[in-house]
Formats: sequence, structure tokens, C-alpha cells
Amino acid sequence: MRVHSVEFQSFNWNGIIFAKIACPGCNFRCGYCFVPDIVFSKQGKDGKTVIEEIRRNQVMHGVCITGGEPTIQKDLPIFIKKLQLLGLKIMIETNGSNPEMIKKLVQRKLVDFVRLDIKAPPEKYDLITGSNGSWKPIEETMTILENWGGYWEAITVWHPGLTKEDLQKIANIVPGKWVVTQFQTGKLIDPKYNTDVCFDEEFIESLVGPREIWVRTKSHERRVR
Ligand code: SF4
Repeated sequence: MRVHSVEFQSFNWNGIIFAKIACPGCNFRCGYCFVPDIVFSKQGKDGKTVIEEIRRNQVMHGVCITGGEPTIQKDLPIFIKKLQLLGLKIMIETNGSNPEMIKKLVQRKLVDFVRLDIKAPPEKYDLITGSNGSWKPIEETMTILENWGGYWEAITVWHPGLTKEDLQKIANIVPGKWVVTQFQTGKLIDPKYNTDVCFDEEFIESLVGPREIWVRTKSHERRVR
């Protein structure tokens, strides 16, 4: 298992202090992606070193494994098992492109919480991710998670490639908790995405479909439905 970087005590979620483990590499090339350094990285520490660092830092209760895309690494289940042996809760942030891996993780009880990116409505998926046939695996992942019974949420960055109509189409697809987050400009994979998006919270409140809708900005997070 390769790890690009570890951020200790990165965030507190429901009273649980998480470290963030960023995995190098990704199978998508989303133009709006704000972690190009991680996506194009092939290097990193080995998992063993990271587990030892985490073992020594006893303040955390959980780890959020993110990327890049963590599920492209075949030894992810073994890595997680070792983290669980330290008594840590496991959160995975994924683009959903590897339903087989997600199935393995939930069936083997290797994950407590999954955050799944939904980047666009199905017909725009390939355009946004720069990857052919990209929607079908995401749909499969969503079905696996919906049947799982564990805690998961779908998350959509309202990036410059998404119109209000696209947002409603995504809302029609997501069954459970859906978080819409504000896009941040910066160093992106495709500089043409580097433009502000009007984050219209009232519009998000008006959307129908998911059981729960939340908005997340730099300054706040709140449930709007
Ligand atoms: S935003 Fe796209 S390119 Fe960036 S890490 Fe996520 S899936 Fe990969």
C-alpha cells in the first residue's frame, strides 16, 4: 500500500477525531480536481511506516482514507485490517469506480463510513471524469452501499461543469444522504475550471429526491432538507 501523505488529527466528525490518509494516483481526470499533486503522484511512504506513525499518535479515533482514489490499490483491505487492529474507525472517500473493492470492504466489515462522490448526471460522467464508461460502476457502488445498511453519504462538488439542471438530475438519483459542497478555485487539473460558481443554497433547498440534503461550505455545514 502506498500513501502520499498523512494529516494527523485532521477533523472531528461526531466527536471522533480522524487522521486523513491520502493515497497517490487516481483512475479519473476530473478537470475540477483540486489535488493534482496527489492524482499524478506515483510515490509515497509504504503502508507499514504509516501504520507505525499512526500507532504512535494515540490521539485519533479513526482514519479517513482518501486520495486520489484509494480503491485502486489492491492491498487496501489488508492495510485497513491493520488499522482496525489499532482500534480505529475507518472512513473511505471514493469516486465509486471500483464496486468490487467496495463490496469486499463492506462484506468483510472493513469500513464504518463511506463517502461517495457523485460528480455529474450519468450522461455527463465521461466528460467530467475524462474516463469512458465511468457511470455504470458508480451506479453499482451506490446499489451496494444502499443495500449495506452501514453509514454512507453521497457528495457532490458544485463545480463549474454542473448546471442547476444537472444538480436536479443528480438529486433524482441519490437515494439517501446527499451533501452538496462549495467548489474552491486553486490549482486544478484543468485550469479552465478555475472560475467561481454561484453557490445558491436556496436552490439546493428546493431540490427534491434524496432523503436528506446538506450543504457544506468553508464556513458552515447544515441540513437543508
Ligand atoms: S476529483 Fe476526480 S481526479 Fe481528483 S481525486 Fe477525485 S476522482 Fe480523482
